[in-house]
Amino acid sequence: MMAQYLQIKEQHPDALLFYRMGDFYELFFDDAVAAAAALDIALTKRGKHLGRDIAMCGVPHHASEGYLLTLIRKGFRVAIAEQMETPEQAKKRGYKSVVARDVVRLVTPGTLTEDSLLDARRHNFLAAYAELRDDGALAWADISTGELRVMPCTRLRLGPELARLAPREMLVSDTHAESLRPVADDMGAALTPLAPASFDSQSAEKRLCTLYKVQTLDGFGQFSRAEHAALGALVDYLDMTQRGKLPLLHPPFRDSANDLVQIDAATRRNLELTQSLAGGRDGALLQVIDRTVTAAGARLLERRLSSPSSRLDTILARQTAVSFMHGQNRLREDLRDSLKEVPDIDRALSRIALDRAGPRDLAAIRNGLTQAARIAQVLANAECPPLIEQAQQALTGHDQVLDLLDAALVAEPPLLARDGGFIAPGHDPDLDDARTLRDEGRSVIATMQADYAQDTGIQSLKIKHNNVLGYFIEVTSTHADRMLSEPLSARYIHRQTTANQVRFTTVELSEMETRILNAGARALEIEKRLFAQLRAAVLACADHLALAARALAEIDLACALADLALARNWCAPRLDNSRAFAVTAGRHPVVESALTRAGDTFIANDCDLSAADGAAIWLLTGPNMAGKSTFLRQNALIAILAQMGAWVPAADAHIGLVSQVFSRVGASDDLARGRSTFMVEMVETAAILNQADDRALVILDEIGRGTATYDGLSIAWATLEHLHDVNRTRALFATHYHEMTALAGRLTGVENATVTVKEWEGEVIFLHEVKRGAADRSYGVQVARLAGLPDSVITRAREVLAALEQGESGKNPKAVIDDLPLFSAARTPAPQAPQSSPATEKLARINPDELSPKEALDLLYELKSLS
Ligand code: ADP
Repeated sequence: MMAQYLQIKEQHPDALLFYRMGDFYELFFDDAVAAAAALDIALTKRGKHLGRDIAMCGVPHHASEGYLLTLIRKGFRVAIAEQMETPEQAKKRGYKSVVARDVVRLVTPGTLTEDSLLDARRHNFLAAYAELRDDGALAWADISTGELRVMPCTRLRLGPELARLAPREMLVSDTHAESLRPVADDMGAALTPLAPASFDSQSAEKRLCTLYKVQTLDGFGQFSRAEHAALGALVDYLDMTQRGKLPLLHPPFRDSANDLVQIDAATRRNLELTQSLAGGRDGALLQVIDRTVTAAGARLLERRLSSPSSRLDTILARQTAVSFMHGQNRLREDLRDSLKEVPDIDRALSRIALDRAGPRDLAAIRNGLTQAARIAQVLANAECPPLIEQAQQALTGHDQVLDLLDAALVAEPPLLARDGGFIAPGHDPDLDDARTLRDEGRSVIATMQADYAQDTGIQSLKIKHNNVLGYFIEVTSTHADRMLSEPLSARYIHRQTTANQVRFTTVELSEMETRILNAGARALEIEKRLFAQLRAAVLACADHLALAARALAEIDLACALADLALARNWCAPRLDNSRAFAVTAGRHPVVESALTRAGDTFIANDCDLSAADGAAIWLLTGPNMAGKSTFLRQNALIAILAQMGAWVPAADAHIGLVSQVFSRVGASDDLARGRSTFMVEMVETAAILNQADDRALVILDEIGRGTATYDGLSIAWATLEHLHDVNRTRALFATHYHEMTALAGRLTGVENATVTVKEWEGEVIFLHEVKRGAADRSYGVQVARLAGLPDSVITRAREVLAALEQGESGKNPKAVIDDLPLFSAARTPAPQAPQSSPATEKLARINPDELSPKEALDLLYELKSLS
């Protein structure tokens, strides 16, 4: 057995080998040590190999999914070796032969299909990046849904694209593995290097043609060599990990970077689109806007939010669908009621294709199609916009497979096909016969029990069943003698004696048992055959079913976004090719929902960055905590929501298409990544200045604050000028450098705006209102006081501030600081002589060493009276 183990292990050196032994998966040697630690299970020993103990641990087969999930999350890959024959079959091959085993599947982060290992509401992408000389391409697939896409992609674009897709695993050629590891690590994707041959573009083309059973791929579009290579590597890897069973993959679809709003990794993080800065989903935009009721709808929402469109026709089609649902309360609620009953068709289909499905997957298709038919009917009576109309059409024409599944399956089938019981009565006459025989046998057994009780005169006699004896007659030991002697012993054959019972059988009982067993086995056999037939019938129309699943997701999303818009009082944005950006009474959906939960109100604010041509920039000043960041981000979010086709949190919005969104925060805020360095801030700012075009929307929050005041001010100043003169963007620029407000007078496209506060009895009150004009002062000292800085520090700060402000009018501030005699005093405040008092004078005169305890106590009383 060990020889077999080692031989299999040799082929999978980089994976943990789950070696099936009966009801367990066992792990040996280093695998056992690693797995026991990762899973927190007992590490034991079993036998010796080359004189050393063999470390071993195991997980029960029936609970293996949970363990697999933990291992995958911890970055392991797992090879699953199953028993390919029964021990009996092995014995037949020869005395001492080991049960044949083989790896049936490699489990890796990007190739999961089990519901228990996947997040239903998220995609699980496997990506492959290919590079051929100057050409690069990224392909990605979700094998649990069959989605397969590809796009040209340079190394420069790789980071942003990975940030958009968040793949769990990325395949690259060995030759690029080291140079690409940092970007994969950064995006949280496991990097899997493959031999360069996997990326060979010519064999890739062949592989793809075989997969899709076509002569040429031209029917799917024109793909570059790099795109072929990336797609080919994906397919090759799937073939390897699934051991020849290819998942259902839809024909590759070409994503065009030009059709999507470009949002880089830093911007996504900063705007907290799908993940909050803290890393979780709580507090991210996605979570706050997700009202979908199906898993596929939730995945579509995530895709749309991650990849808003920059094509007006696409956006308007999506928005029209949402607006339609917005105006149809009854219809929408009716649809949502049906949608709630729709299971995850995509994932069921994928398991059916991989031959990993159970009866419940077939039932999922049936239940999904039943609802699809209902939804199609509901929509048939409505005047739907094109997108919904198309979806409606995709939901029809499944009658044949639906009728088949409906007739074949019981209402609530069991999880596993193995034990049967999922085919409905009346579907197959042979099966019905076998089952009748089996079940009749069971009732005959009950009759036999009554007969035997009468025959023996033992009322407590029972007929029971276990796996060792099969059916047997059981009486308590008190009746043993009677049963074992004439005349009863002639009929009742002794089988077993236990502590309290004696067990017998009869010739009729054994015969009946054989009949029952045969009928049962035959029924199982028939059910298995029928399962295979149903599976084939479903696979035959898999493409059509996938379209229906997609249509249901589309309808779910339109309804969900409409529901959201109604509940939150959002508006339909007007979108066009202009360079407008006018938002009336805009709100930040996440901050607003947090405030609402706490019983507070969010103050809505207008923003107008419309420009015919040239730049339109608001320079926003105001104290910390006033709401600058919130205002900046809410406008970026409104643009993204609008371009994904949703309504937006505002009273009115007019948006000329945005091609790129950039958002950056000054270094010290970006703590979540543990990289709060000025360098990162500057690299990221450089990326904007080098890339932003005149359709970009740029949000800069306190850029420059990561360095000394004058450096920071100069950098912020020059950055703003560049955005204005060269990039000509629409931008919001928050700064605490008041000096910059002077730019509004010098650059035509720059306007000042400020978040207002009120001062009342020396304290600031945040009004959170954004107004045109510059902040009169920064209120930093008041904010510091709110934060609880000691009064002495606040007083001192006011003095220094007053001196600096005085100096501002004429003198150079540095000179003012040098002239501040107070300054040095402030650094080392002179200790004040304590005022003398009778108590202190008395204290000065005593010598503690000379005091007895009693005297010391008396002295304490005296001192107390003096103070
Ligand atoms: P700044 O960037 O100016 O330091 P933030 O945007 O971080 O300020 O806002 C600070 C806090 O003020 C937020 O956490 C939020 O609770 C509150 N706030 C911000 N904007 C608003 C608003 N428009 N209405 C109500 N509260 C707001």
